[in-house]
Amino acid sequence: MADYDAIIIGAGLGGLSSGALLAHQGLKVLVLEQSDRIGGCCSTFERNGYKHDVGASIVEIIQPIEKVFELLGTKFQDEVDLIPCDPLFSVMYRNGERITIEKSLEATGEVISSLSAEDGRHWKDFCDYFQEMMDVLIDALFFVPADTFGDMANMIKKNPKLLKFLPTFLVTYQDLFQKYFKSNKVLDTMAYQSLYMGMPPALTPGPFAMIPFTEHSGIWYPRGGMIKIPEALLRCGQKDGLEIRMKAGVKKVVVKGGRSQGVVLEDGGEITSRIVVSNVNPQRLYLELIGEEHLPWLTKRGVKSLVLGKSLCMIYVGLDSKPDLDAHHSYTAVSMQEVNDFWTNHVETGIMLPAEKNYGLICWTSHSDDSLAPKGHHVINVIPESFYHLKGTNWDAYKDQFVDDYLDYVSRDLVPDLKGQITQVIASSPMDYERNLRLPEGSLYAFNQDATHQAVFRPSAKSKCIDGLYLSGSGTHPGGGVPTTIASGMIAYNKILQNEKV
Ligand SMILES: Cc1cc2nc3c(=O)[nH]c(=O)nc-3n(C[C@H](O)[C@H](O)[C@H](O)COP(=O)(O)OP(=O)(O)OC[C@H]3O[C@@H](n4cnc5c(N)ncnc54)[C@H](O)[C@@H]3O)c2cc1C
Repeated sequence: MADYDAIIIGAGLGGLSSGALLAHQGLKVLVLEQSDRIGGCCSTFERNGYKHDVGASIVEIIQPIEKVFELLGTKFQDEVDLIPCDPLFSVMYRNGERITIEKSLEATGEVISSLSAEDGRHWKDFCDYFQEMMDVLIDALFFVPADTFGDMANMIKKNPKLLKFLPTFLVTYQDLFQKYFKSNKVLDTMAYQSLYMGMPPALTPGPFAMIPFTEHSGIWYPRGGMIKIPEALLRCGQKDGLEIRMKAGVKKVVVKGGRSQGVVLEDGGEITSRIVVSNVNPQRLYLELIGEEHLPWLTKRGVKSLVLGKSLCMIYVGLDSKPDLDAHHSYTAVSMQEVNDFWTNHVETGIMLPAEKNYGLICWTSHSDDSLAPKGHHVINVIPESFYHLKGTNWDAYKDQFVDDYLDYVSRDLVPDLKGQITQVIASSPMDYERNLRLPEGSLYAFNQDATHQAVFRPSAKSKCIDGLYLSGSGTHPGGGVPTTIASGMIAYNKILQNEKV
Protein backbone atom coordinates (compact mmCIF):
# COMPACT_ATOMS: atom_id res chain seq x y z
CA MET A 1 0.00 0.00 0.00
CA ALA A 2 1.25 3.51 -0.86
CA ASP A 3 2.39 5.86 1.93
CA TYR A 4 -0.06 8.57 0.75
CA ASP A 5 -3.06 8.85 -1.55
CA ALA A 6 -1.60 12.02 -3.06
CA ILE A 7 1.76 13.77 -3.01
CA ILE A 8 1.78 17.43 -4.02
CA ILE A 9 5.13 18.75 -5.27
CA GLY A 10 5.37 22.43 -4.32
CA ALA A 11 3.46 24.62 -1.84
CA GLY A 12 2.57 27.38 -4.33
CA LEU A 13 -1.09 28.39 -4.73
CA GLY A 14 -1.83 25.67 -7.28
CA GLY A 15 -0.28 22.98 -5.07
CA LEU A 16 -2.00 24.13 -1.88
CA SER A 17 -5.45 24.54 -3.45
CA SER A 18 -5.38 21.05 -5.00
CA GLY A 19 -3.88 19.60 -1.79
CA ALA A 20 -6.46 21.21 0.50
CA LEU A 21 -9.36 20.10 -1.73
CA LEU A 22 -8.08 16.51 -1.90
CA ALA A 23 -7.62 16.40 1.89
CA HIS A 24 -11.17 17.74 2.31
CA GLN A 25 -12.35 14.87 0.09
CA GLY A 26 -10.79 12.48 2.65
CA LEU A 27 -7.52 11.65 0.89
CA LYS A 28 -4.25 11.27 2.80
CA VAL A 29 -2.21 14.12 1.33
CA LEU A 30 1.44 15.18 1.70
CA VAL A 31 2.76 18.51 0.34
CA LEU A 32 6.52 18.67 -0.31
CA GLU A 33 8.08 22.14 -0.54
CA GLN A 34 11.75 22.64 -1.34
CA SER A 35 12.06 26.08 0.32
CA ASP A 36 11.42 27.15 3.92
CA ARG A 37 8.33 29.25 3.06
CA ILE A 38 4.93 28.43 1.59
CA GLY A 39 3.19 30.35 -1.20
CA GLY A 40 5.93 30.46 -3.87
CA CYS A 41 5.40 33.71 -5.81
CA CYS A 42 2.45 34.65 -3.57
CA SER A 43 4.26 34.96 -0.29
CA THR A 44 5.74 37.43 2.19
CA PHE A 45 9.02 37.65 4.08
CA GLU A 46 10.12 39.87 6.96
CA ARG A 47 13.45 41.67 7.33
CA ASN A 48 14.18 44.16 10.15
CA GLY A 49 10.48 44.65 10.87
CA TYR A 50 9.51 45.30 7.23
CA LYS A 51 7.27 42.76 5.52
CA HIS A 52 7.82 42.47 1.77
CA ASP A 53 5.78 40.45 -0.71
CA VAL A 54 7.88 38.07 -2.79
CA GLY A 55 5.93 38.60 -6.01
CA ALA A 56 2.17 39.15 -6.21
CA SER A 57 0.98 42.35 -4.55
CA ILE A 58 -2.78 42.40 -5.10
CA VAL A 59 -5.62 40.02 -5.72
CA GLU A 60 -8.45 40.62 -8.18
CA ILE A 61 -11.09 38.50 -9.99
CA ILE A 62 -11.66 36.60 -6.76
CA GLN A 63 -14.60 34.44 -7.94
CA PRO A 64 -12.46 31.28 -8.47
CA ILE A 65 -10.85 31.75 -5.05
CA GLU A 66 -14.26 32.11 -3.43
CA LYS A 67 -15.33 28.88 -5.14
CA VAL A 68 -12.32 26.95 -3.81
CA PHE A 69 -12.94 28.11 -0.23
CA GLU A 70 -16.63 27.28 -0.64
CA LEU A 71 -15.65 23.71 -1.65
CA LEU A 72 -13.48 23.64 1.48
CA GLY A 73 -16.58 24.42 3.54
CA THR A 74 -15.71 28.01 4.40
CA LYS A 75 -15.61 31.54 2.96
CA PHE A 76 -12.56 33.28 1.47
CA GLN A 77 -13.47 36.51 3.27
CA ASP A 78 -13.73 34.64 6.62
CA GLU A 79 -10.28 33.10 6.15
CA VAL A 80 -8.44 36.17 4.83
CA ASP A 81 -9.00 39.80 5.86
CA LEU A 82 -9.21 41.50 2.46
CA ILE A 83 -8.54 45.24 2.40
CA PRO A 84 -10.16 46.94 -0.63
CA CYS A 85 -7.72 49.12 -2.61
CA ASP A 86 -9.31 52.35 -3.79
CA PRO A 87 -7.93 54.31 -5.68
CA LEU A 88 -7.06 51.37 -7.91
CA PHE A 89 -3.86 52.89 -9.20
CA SER A 90 -2.06 56.08 -10.05
CA VAL A 91 -0.38 56.78 -13.40
CA MET A 92 2.87 58.76 -13.28
CA TYR A 93 3.78 60.67 -16.44
CA ARG A 94 7.46 61.34 -16.95
CA ASN A 95 6.87 65.12 -16.88
CA GLY A 96 5.77 64.86 -13.24
CA GLU A 97 2.02 64.91 -13.95
CA ARG A 98 -0.06 62.18 -12.28
CA ILE A 99 -3.58 60.90 -12.59
CA THR A 100 -5.42 58.74 -10.13
CA ILE A 101 -7.88 56.06 -11.19
CA GLU A 102 -10.59 55.28 -8.67
CA LYS A 103 -12.78 52.19 -8.48
CA SER A 104 -15.83 54.19 -9.53
CA LEU A 105 -16.51 53.87 -13.29
CA GLU A 106 -18.11 57.32 -13.32
CA ALA A 107 -15.07 58.97 -11.70
CA THR A 108 -12.78 57.20 -14.17
CA GLY A 109 -14.99 58.34 -17.05
CA GLU A 110 -14.49 61.92 -15.85
CA VAL A 111 -10.71 61.48 -15.75
CA ILE A 112 -10.72 60.05 -19.29
CA SER A 113 -12.93 62.91 -20.48
CA SER A 114 -10.50 65.40 -18.98
CA LEU A 115 -7.73 63.83 -21.08
CA SER A 116 -9.83 63.55 -24.24
CA ALA A 117 -13.49 64.51 -24.61
CA GLU A 118 -13.93 62.10 -27.54
CA ASP A 119 -12.45 59.13 -25.64
CA GLY A 120 -14.55 60.08 -22.61
CA ARG A 121 -17.66 59.59 -24.80
CA HIS A 122 -16.49 56.04 -25.65
CA TRP A 123 -15.76 55.05 -22.04
CA LYS A 124 -19.32 53.86 -21.40
CA ASP A 125 -19.36 51.66 -24.55
CA PHE A 126 -16.01 50.26 -23.48
CA CYS A 127 -17.37 49.45 -20.00
CA ASP A 128 -20.58 47.85 -21.34
CA TYR A 129 -18.61 45.62 -23.71
CA PHE A 130 -16.07 44.52 -21.10
CA GLN A 131 -18.68 44.01 -18.38
CA GLU A 132 -20.43 41.45 -20.58
CA MET A 133 -17.11 39.89 -21.61
CA MET A 134 -15.96 39.63 -17.99
CA ASP A 135 -19.21 37.96 -16.89
CA VAL A 136 -18.90 35.36 -19.66
CA LEU A 137 -15.15 34.70 -19.67
CA ILE A 138 -14.62 34.29 -15.93
CA ASP A 139 -17.31 31.58 -15.73
CA ALA A 140 -16.39 29.98 -19.02
CA LEU A 141 -12.59 29.88 -18.69
CA PHE A 142 -11.55 29.88 -15.06
CA PHE A 143 -13.58 27.03 -13.61
CA VAL A 144 -13.22 24.30 -16.22
CA PRO A 145 -10.44 22.20 -17.76
CA ALA A 146 -8.98 22.88 -21.19
CA ASP A 147 -6.94 19.68 -21.62
CA THR A 148 -8.48 18.58 -24.92
CA PHE A 149 -10.48 19.98 -27.80
CA GLY A 150 -13.39 18.02 -26.22
CA ASP A 151 -12.97 20.13 -23.05
CA MET A 152 -12.96 23.25 -25.23
CA ALA A 153 -16.18 22.14 -26.97
CA ASN A 154 -17.74 21.53 -23.53
CA MET A 155 -16.78 25.06 -22.49
CA ILE A 156 -18.82 26.44 -25.37
CA LYS A 157 -21.68 23.96 -24.83
CA LYS A 158 -21.97 25.00 -21.18
CA ASN A 159 -21.60 28.67 -21.98
CA PRO A 160 -22.77 29.43 -25.55
CA LYS A 161 -22.31 33.17 -24.93
CA LEU A 162 -18.58 32.44 -25.18
CA LEU A 163 -19.03 32.23 -28.97
CA LYS A 164 -19.62 35.97 -29.08
CA PHE A 165 -16.18 36.61 -27.59
CA LEU A 166 -14.15 33.90 -29.38
CA PRO A 167 -13.13 36.33 -32.16
CA THR A 168 -11.39 38.45 -29.50
CA PHE A 169 -8.79 35.65 -29.24
CA LEU A 170 -7.80 36.53 -32.81
CA VAL A 171 -7.06 40.16 -32.02
CA THR A 172 -4.73 41.70 -29.47
CA TYR A 173 -4.98 43.75 -26.31
CA GLN A 174 -3.72 46.72 -28.32
CA ASP A 175 -6.31 46.25 -31.11
CA LEU A 176 -9.18 46.28 -28.62
CA PHE A 177 -8.03 49.44 -26.83
CA GLN A 178 -7.34 51.29 -30.06
CA LYS A 179 -10.88 50.46 -31.15
CA TYR A 180 -12.29 52.51 -28.27
CA PHE A 181 -9.64 55.14 -27.55
CA LYS A 182 -7.64 57.43 -29.86
CA SER A 183 -5.81 59.81 -27.52
CA ASN A 184 -2.24 58.74 -26.75
CA LYS A 185 -2.55 60.21 -23.29
CA VAL A 186 -5.50 57.91 -22.57
CA LEU A 187 -3.87 54.87 -24.19
CA ASP A 188 -0.72 55.53 -22.14
CA THR A 189 -2.74 54.86 -18.97
CA MET A 190 -3.66 51.36 -20.21
CA ALA A 191 -0.57 49.91 -21.92
CA TYR A 192 1.25 48.82 -18.79
CA GLN A 193 -1.45 46.43 -17.61
CA SER A 194 -0.84 44.08 -20.54
CA LEU A 195 2.31 43.17 -18.59
CA TYR A 196 0.05 41.71 -15.88
CA MET A 197 -0.28 38.93 -18.45
CA GLY A 198 3.49 38.96 -18.98
CA MET A 199 3.25 40.10 -22.60
CA PRO A 200 3.36 43.41 -24.51
CA PRO A 201 0.06 44.85 -25.87
CA ALA A 202 0.76 43.67 -29.43
CA LEU A 203 1.09 40.03 -28.31
CA THR A 204 -1.38 39.80 -25.43
CA PRO A 205 -4.56 38.04 -26.58
CA GLY A 206 -7.60 40.35 -26.86
CA PRO A 207 -9.63 38.88 -23.96
CA PHE A 208 -7.03 40.16 -21.46
CA ALA A 209 -7.83 43.70 -22.47
CA MET A 210 -10.55 43.24 -19.87
CA ILE A 211 -7.96 43.62 -17.05
CA PRO A 212 -8.05 47.44 -16.83
CA PHE A 213 -11.84 47.05 -16.66
CA THR A 214 -12.03 44.11 -14.23
CA GLU A 215 -9.96 46.09 -11.71
CA HIS A 216 -13.04 48.31 -11.34
CA SER A 217 -14.94 45.39 -9.84
CA GLY A 218 -12.39 45.42 -7.03
CA ILE A 219 -8.79 44.80 -6.09
CA TRP A 220 -7.78 43.74 -2.62
CA TYR A 221 -4.76 43.32 -0.39
CA PRO A 222 -4.76 40.62 2.32
CA ARG A 223 -4.02 42.13 5.74
CA GLY A 224 -0.64 40.81 6.89
CA GLY A 225 0.69 40.28 3.37
CA MET A 226 0.04 38.08 0.34
CA ILE A 227 1.20 35.00 2.31
CA LYS A 228 -2.15 35.12 4.12
CA ILE A 229 -3.79 33.49 1.06
CA PRO A 230 -1.56 30.37 0.94
CA GLU A 231 -1.64 30.25 4.76
CA ALA A 232 -5.45 30.09 4.63
CA LEU A 233 -5.37 27.25 2.08
CA LEU A 234 -2.83 25.36 4.20
CA ARG A 235 -4.83 25.91 7.40
CA CYS A 236 -7.98 24.54 5.75
CA GLY A 237 -6.05 21.53 4.40
CA GLN A 238 -4.46 20.82 7.78
CA LYS A 239 -7.90 20.76 9.44
CA ASP A 240 -8.58 17.82 7.11
CA GLY A 241 -5.30 16.09 7.90
CA LEU A 242 -3.07 17.49 5.10
CA GLU A 243 0.61 17.14 6.00
CA ILE A 244 3.41 19.38 4.77
CA ARG A 245 7.20 19.01 4.80
CA MET A 246 9.37 22.05 4.23
CA LYS A 247 12.91 21.96 2.76
CA ALA A 248 11.85 18.74 1.07
CA GLY A 249 12.79 19.18 -2.59
CA VAL A 250 11.64 16.50 -5.01
CA LYS A 251 14.34 15.16 -7.30
CA LYS A 252 12.36 12.58 -9.28
CA VAL A 253 8.81 11.44 -9.89
CA VAL A 254 8.87 7.64 -9.87
CA VAL A 255 7.18 6.25 -12.98
CA LYS A 256 6.60 2.50 -13.43
CA GLY A 257 4.49 0.91 -16.15
CA GLY A 258 3.38 4.32 -17.38
CA ARG A 259 2.02 5.34 -13.95
CA SER A 260 3.44 7.68 -11.31
CA GLN A 261 4.13 5.81 -8.08
CA GLY A 262 5.54 8.51 -5.81
CA VAL A 263 8.69 10.63 -5.56
CA VAL A 264 12.38 10.52 -4.69
CA LEU A 265 13.51 13.43 -2.54
CA GLU A 266 16.73 15.39 -3.03
CA ASP A 267 18.03 13.84 0.23
CA GLY A 268 17.52 10.38 -1.30
CA GLY A 269 14.34 9.44 0.62
CA GLU A 270 11.51 7.79 -1.30
CA ILE A 271 7.78 8.28 -0.62
CA THR A 272 5.09 6.36 -2.46
CA SER A 273 1.63 7.62 -3.47
CA ARG A 274 -1.25 6.66 -5.76
CA ILE A 275 -1.47 10.15 -7.22
CA VAL A 276 1.15 12.87 -7.80
CA VAL A 277 0.16 16.50 -8.34
CA SER A 278 2.96 18.74 -9.60
CA ASN A 279 3.02 22.48 -8.89
CA VAL A 280 6.40 22.95 -10.58
CA ASN A 281 7.06 24.35 -14.05
CA PRO A 282 5.81 21.59 -16.44
CA GLN A 283 8.93 21.77 -18.63
CA ARG A 284 11.07 21.02 -15.58
CA LEU A 285 8.59 18.38 -14.40
CA TYR A 286 8.62 16.42 -17.65
CA LEU A 287 12.25 16.85 -18.71
CA GLU A 288 13.99 16.67 -15.31
CA LEU A 289 11.76 15.21 -12.60
CA ILE A 290 10.27 12.54 -14.87
CA GLY A 291 12.94 12.19 -17.55
CA GLU A 292 12.76 12.00 -21.31
CA GLU A 293 12.92 8.18 -21.23
CA HIS A 294 9.31 8.09 -19.96
CA LEU A 295 7.94 10.50 -22.57
CA PRO A 296 6.44 9.74 -25.97
CA TRP A 297 8.17 11.71 -28.75
CA LEU A 298 5.19 14.00 -29.24
CA THR A 299 5.17 15.03 -25.55
CA LYS A 300 8.95 15.56 -25.62
CA ARG A 301 8.62 17.77 -28.67
CA GLY A 302 5.61 19.65 -27.32
CA VAL A 303 7.18 20.29 -23.92
CA LYS A 304 10.48 21.45 -25.42
CA SER A 305 8.67 23.84 -27.75
CA LEU A 306 7.01 25.77 -24.89
CA VAL A 307 8.52 29.24 -24.55
CA LEU A 308 9.38 30.34 -21.01
CA GLY A 309 7.65 33.56 -20.02
CA LYS A 310 8.64 36.95 -18.76
CA SER A 311 10.84 37.48 -15.72
CA LEU A 312 11.46 40.50 -13.49
CA CYS A 313 13.84 42.09 -11.04
CA MET A 314 11.89 43.10 -7.95
CA ILE A 315 13.31 45.72 -5.55
CA TYR A 316 12.01 45.50 -1.95
CA VAL A 317 12.44 48.84 -0.19
CA GLY A 318 11.97 49.86 3.46
CA LEU A 319 11.33 53.60 4.12
CA ASP A 320 11.50 55.67 7.31
CA SER A 321 8.53 57.85 6.31
CA LYS A 322 5.56 58.12 3.96
CA PRO A 323 6.52 58.12 0.25
CA ASP A 324 5.12 60.70 -2.16
CA LEU A 325 2.75 58.24 -3.85
CA ASP A 326 -1.02 58.26 -4.36
CA ALA A 327 -2.18 54.64 -4.39
CA HIS A 328 -1.36 50.99 -3.62
CA HIS A 329 -0.16 50.64 -7.23
CA SER A 330 1.52 53.40 -9.26
CA TYR A 331 2.93 52.84 -12.68
CA THR A 332 4.75 54.85 -15.28
CA ALA A 333 2.63 56.13 -18.16
CA VAL A 334 4.04 54.38 -21.18
CA SER A 335 2.93 54.02 -24.78
CA MET A 336 1.86 50.68 -26.30
CA GLN A 337 4.72 51.17 -28.78
CA GLU A 338 7.34 51.56 -26.03
CA VAL A 339 6.20 48.34 -24.36
CA ASN A 340 6.20 46.48 -27.69
CA ASP A 341 9.65 47.89 -28.56
CA PHE A 342 11.02 46.80 -25.20
CA TRP A 343 10.05 43.25 -26.13
CA THR A 344 11.61 43.25 -29.57
CA ASN A 345 14.60 45.58 -29.07
CA HIS A 346 15.62 44.66 -25.55
CA VAL A 347 14.19 41.33 -24.31
CA GLU A 348 15.27 39.68 -27.55
CA THR A 349 18.71 41.31 -27.77
CA GLY A 350 19.62 41.25 -24.05
CA ILE A 351 20.45 44.96 -24.00
CA MET A 352 18.86 46.68 -20.99
CA LEU A 353 17.21 50.08 -21.32
CA PRO A 354 18.94 52.95 -19.47
CA ALA A 355 17.15 53.65 -16.18
CA GLU A 356 15.59 56.93 -17.37
CA LYS A 357 13.94 55.16 -20.32
CA ASN A 358 12.81 52.18 -18.23
CA TYR A 359 9.35 52.11 -16.66
CA GLY A 360 7.46 50.01 -14.19
CA LEU A 361 5.26 49.52 -11.19
CA ILE A 362 5.61 50.68 -7.60
CA CYS A 363 3.54 48.74 -5.05
CA TRP A 364 3.01 50.69 -1.86
CA THR A 365 1.63 47.84 0.21
CA SER A 366 1.84 49.66 3.57
CA HIS A 367 -0.56 52.26 2.13
CA SER A 368 -3.24 49.56 2.41
CA ASP A 369 -1.89 47.78 5.48
CA ASP A 370 0.20 49.77 7.98
CA SER A 371 1.04 46.60 9.94
CA LEU A 372 3.67 45.77 7.29
CA ALA A 373 6.27 48.21 8.63
CA PRO A 374 7.34 49.64 12.02
CA LYS A 375 5.18 52.60 13.15
CA GLY A 376 5.59 55.58 10.81
CA HIS A 377 7.69 53.52 8.37
CA HIS A 378 6.61 52.12 5.01
CA VAL A 379 7.36 49.38 2.48
CA ILE A 380 7.27 49.59 -1.27
CA ASN A 381 8.21 47.16 -4.03
CA VAL A 382 9.74 48.81 -7.08
CA ILE A 383 9.49 46.76 -10.26
CA PRO A 384 11.25 48.08 -13.38
CA GLU A 385 11.00 46.15 -16.62
CA SER A 386 13.67 43.50 -16.99
CA PHE A 387 14.41 40.08 -18.46
CA TYR A 388 16.60 37.04 -17.81
CA HIS A 389 19.21 36.93 -20.58
CA LEU A 390 21.60 39.91 -20.44
CA LYS A 391 24.08 40.47 -23.22
CA GLY A 392 27.68 40.11 -21.98
CA THR A 393 26.81 39.80 -18.28
CA ASN A 394 24.45 38.11 -15.87
CA TRP A 395 22.21 39.19 -13.01
CA ASP A 396 24.64 38.28 -10.21
CA ALA A 397 27.15 40.72 -11.71
CA TYR A 398 24.64 43.37 -12.84
CA LYS A 399 21.93 43.46 -10.13
CA ASP A 400 23.42 46.09 -7.77
CA GLN A 401 24.09 48.58 -10.57
CA PHE A 402 20.63 48.02 -12.11
CA VAL A 403 18.92 48.56 -8.75
CA ASP A 404 20.97 51.68 -7.86
CA ASP A 405 20.44 53.28 -11.28
CA TYR A 406 16.70 52.68 -11.25
CA LEU A 407 16.19 53.93 -7.67
CA ASP A 408 18.22 57.06 -8.57
CA TYR A 409 15.95 57.69 -11.54
CA VAL A 410 12.73 57.09 -9.57
CA SER A 411 13.89 59.39 -6.80
CA ARG A 412 14.87 62.11 -9.27
CA ASP A 413 11.93 62.02 -11.69
CA LEU A 414 8.97 60.09 -10.28
CA VAL A 415 8.87 60.01 -6.47
CA PRO A 416 10.72 63.08 -5.17
CA ASP A 417 13.38 62.43 -2.52
CA LEU A 418 12.64 58.73 -2.26
CA LYS A 419 16.33 57.90 -1.85
CA GLY A 420 16.58 59.97 1.33
CA GLN A 421 13.81 57.91 2.94
CA ILE A 422 15.32 54.50 2.23
CA THR A 423 16.38 52.36 5.18
CA GLN A 424 16.85 49.03 3.42
CA VAL A 425 16.99 47.66 -0.12
CA ILE A 426 16.82 44.00 -1.04
CA ALA A 427 16.38 42.80 -4.61
CA SER A 428 15.34 39.58 -6.26
CA SER A 429 16.67 39.23 -9.80
CA PRO A 430 15.40 36.75 -12.37
CA MET A 431 18.35 34.52 -11.36
CA ASP A 432 17.35 34.76 -7.69
CA TYR A 433 13.78 33.72 -8.54
CA GLU A 434 15.23 30.80 -10.50
CA ARG A 435 17.42 29.70 -7.55
CA ASN A 436 14.97 30.37 -4.72
CA LEU A 437 11.65 29.29 -6.24
CA ARG A 438 12.94 27.05 -9.04
CA LEU A 439 11.27 29.20 -11.70
CA PRO A 440 13.23 28.38 -14.89
CA GLU A 441 14.81 31.62 -16.13
CA GLY A 442 12.78 33.39 -13.42
CA SER A 443 9.67 32.95 -15.55
CA LEU A 444 6.77 34.48 -13.57
CA TYR A 445 3.93 32.73 -15.35
CA ALA A 446 5.81 29.58 -16.40
CA PHE A 447 5.31 30.16 -20.12
CA ASN A 448 4.37 32.92 -22.49
CA GLN A 449 0.68 33.69 -22.30
CA ASP A 450 0.12 34.46 -25.99
CA ALA A 451 -2.58 32.63 -27.95
CA THR A 452 -0.22 29.71 -28.73
CA HIS A 453 0.29 29.00 -25.02
CA GLN A 454 -3.31 29.28 -23.83
CA ALA A 455 -5.96 26.69 -22.87
CA VAL A 456 -5.49 23.46 -24.85
CA PHE A 457 -1.99 24.60 -25.92
CA ARG A 458 -0.78 24.78 -22.30
CA PRO A 459 0.27 21.51 -20.57
CA SER A 460 -2.87 19.73 -19.40
CA ALA A 461 -4.12 19.29 -15.84
CA LYS A 462 -4.27 15.51 -16.31
CA SER A 463 -1.03 14.27 -17.83
CA LYS A 464 -1.64 12.81 -21.27
CA CYS A 465 1.28 10.37 -21.05
CA ILE A 466 1.59 9.36 -17.38
CA ASP A 467 -1.33 7.94 -15.42
CA GLY A 468 -1.87 9.21 -11.91
CA LEU A 469 0.00 12.45 -12.67
CA TYR A 470 -1.78 15.83 -12.48
CA LEU A 471 -0.58 19.40 -12.92
CA SER A 472 -1.56 22.61 -11.15
CA GLY A 473 -0.08 26.10 -11.11
CA SER A 474 0.74 28.75 -13.65
CA GLY A 475 2.14 26.28 -16.20
CA THR A 476 -1.30 24.81 -16.83
CA HIS A 477 -4.71 26.30 -17.73
CA PRO A 478 -5.84 29.02 -16.89
CA GLY A 479 -2.26 30.32 -16.51
CA GLY A 480 -0.40 32.70 -14.19
CA GLY A 481 -1.97 34.91 -11.53
CA VAL A 482 -3.30 34.44 -8.01
CA PRO A 483 -6.93 33.54 -8.87
CA THR A 484 -5.99 31.51 -11.94
CA THR A 485 -3.42 29.32 -10.18
CA ILE A 486 -5.87 28.69 -7.33
CA ALA A 487 -8.42 27.77 -10.02
CA SER A 488 -5.88 25.40 -11.61
CA GLY A 489 -5.71 23.51 -8.30
CA MET A 490 -9.50 23.09 -8.40
CA ILE A 491 -9.37 21.92 -12.03
CA ALA A 492 -6.70 19.30 -11.15
CA TYR A 493 -8.83 18.20 -8.19
CA ASN A 494 -11.90 17.78 -10.42
CA LYS A 495 -9.87 15.78 -12.94
CA ILE A 496 -8.69 13.50 -10.10
CA LEU A 497 -12.28 12.96 -8.91
CA GLN A 498 -13.27 11.99 -12.47
CA ASN A 499 -10.34 9.69 -13.17
CA GLU A 500 -9.13 8.10 -9.93
CA LYS A 501 -10.72 5.95 -7.22
CA VAL A 502 -11.13 8.38 -4.35
C1 LIG B 1 7.12 39.45 -9.34
C2 LIG B 1 5.73 38.86 -9.46
C3 LIG B 1 4.62 39.68 -9.35
C4 LIG B 1 3.32 39.14 -9.46
N1 LIG B 1 2.22 39.95 -9.26
C5 LIG B 1 0.98 39.40 -9.24
C6 LIG B 1 -0.16 40.16 -8.80
O1 LIG B 1 -0.03 41.30 -8.33
N2 LIG B 1 -1.40 39.57 -8.88
C7 LIG B 1 -1.55 38.30 -9.32
O2 LIG B 1 -2.70 37.82 -9.40
N3 LIG B 1 -0.49 37.54 -9.68
C8 LIG B 1 0.77 38.04 -9.62
N4 LIG B 1 1.86 37.27 -9.90
C9 LIG B 1 1.64 35.88 -10.33
C10 LIG B 1 1.30 34.90 -9.21
O3 LIG B 1 1.97 35.26 -8.03
C11 LIG B 1 1.74 33.51 -9.66
O4 LIG B 1 1.20 33.22 -10.94
C12 LIG B 1 1.27 32.42 -8.70
O5 LIG B 1 1.49 32.76 -7.34
C13 LIG B 1 2.04 31.15 -9.07
O6 LIG B 1 1.51 30.07 -8.36
P1 LIG B 1 1.93 28.60 -8.71
O7 LIG B 1 0.89 27.70 -8.13
O8 LIG B 1 2.21 28.45 -10.17
O9 LIG B 1 3.24 28.27 -7.88
P2 LIG B 1 4.65 28.99 -7.61
O10 LIG B 1 4.42 30.28 -6.96
O11 LIG B 1 5.55 28.89 -8.77
O12 LIG B 1 5.17 27.99 -6.48
C14 LIG B 1 5.69 26.71 -6.77
C15 LIG B 1 6.29 26.15 -5.49
O13 LIG B 1 6.90 24.90 -5.81
C16 LIG B 1 8.14 24.80 -5.12
N5 LIG B 1 8.99 23.86 -5.84
C17 LIG B 1 9.53 24.03 -7.08
N6 LIG B 1 10.24 22.94 -7.43
C18 LIG B 1 10.13 22.06 -6.40
C19 LIG B 1 10.64 20.75 -6.15
N7 LIG B 1 11.40 20.11 -7.06
N8 LIG B 1 10.33 20.14 -5.00
C20 LIG B 1 9.54 20.76 -4.07
N9 LIG B 1 9.05 22.00 -4.23
C21 LIG B 1 9.33 22.64 -5.38
C22 LIG B 1 8.67 26.23 -5.13
O14 LIG B 1 9.62 26.44 -4.12
C23 LIG B 1 7.39 27.03 -4.90
O15 LIG B 1 7.12 27.24 -3.54
C24 LIG B 1 3.16 37.77 -9.74
C25 LIG B 1 4.28 36.93 -9.83
C26 LIG B 1 5.55 37.45 -9.65
C27 LIG B 1 6.76 36.51 -9.65
